[in-house]
Amino acid sequence: MTSPHLSSAELKALVRTVPDFPRPGIQFRDITTLIGHHQGMAASVHHLAALAGAAGAHKIAGMEARGFIFGAAVAVQLGVGFVPVRKPRKLPIETIGIDYALEYGTDRLEMDPSAIERGQKVVIVDDLIATGGTALATAELLRMAGAVIEHALFVIDLPDLGGAARLRDAGITVSALMEFEGD
Ligand code: AMP
Repeated sequence: MTSPHLSSAELKALVRTVPDFPRPGIQFRDITTLIGHHQGMAASVHHLAALAGAAGAHKIAGMEARGFIFGAAVAVQLGVGFVPVRKPRKLPIETIGIDYALEYGTDRLEMDPSAIERGQKVVIVDDLIATGGTALATAELLRMAGAVIEHALFVIDLPDLGGAARLRDAGITVSALMEFEGD
């Protein structure tokens, strides 16, 4: 194991920015380069797990797909279970789900209704928060399943898009390992 001593600036330098993806004007913050760097991945998971531990997490929830990468690793590091929040029609059981608005149209997230015991503190982990729509829908879905949601953790925050502020308005403390200006 390498010791996870990379600063926030060093972690930020490992994120690749791809202009105009998937649409003109979007600066895509690509974590492929961060997770492909062993120390970068280890440091990210270490920092997120410390935050989740301080938040008293009984479980970690992550959203498909990039939230699975960080969320599952954080859950293992912390010694708690992982709850996958899935795209529609992936789970082979009766699910609970939530529809939420995108810029164009709607999307849906689903989960196993028995994944959480009522009152368990669940900490949300995802790679990036932009408008916060995905994280807010995830929080609502997890609350429907009985979870107490007080904290959400991200590798990257795009504060200019207002997602972290929306989550804070919904009573959720937001932490991120780094921020990028603009969208
Ligand atoms: P939102 O629901 O607007 O907060 O969007 C969050 C989700 O969209 C995250 O799970 C990200 O993976 C993805 N996403 C949104 N904007 C970007 C961006 N500029 N770069 C990379 N991923 C993004």
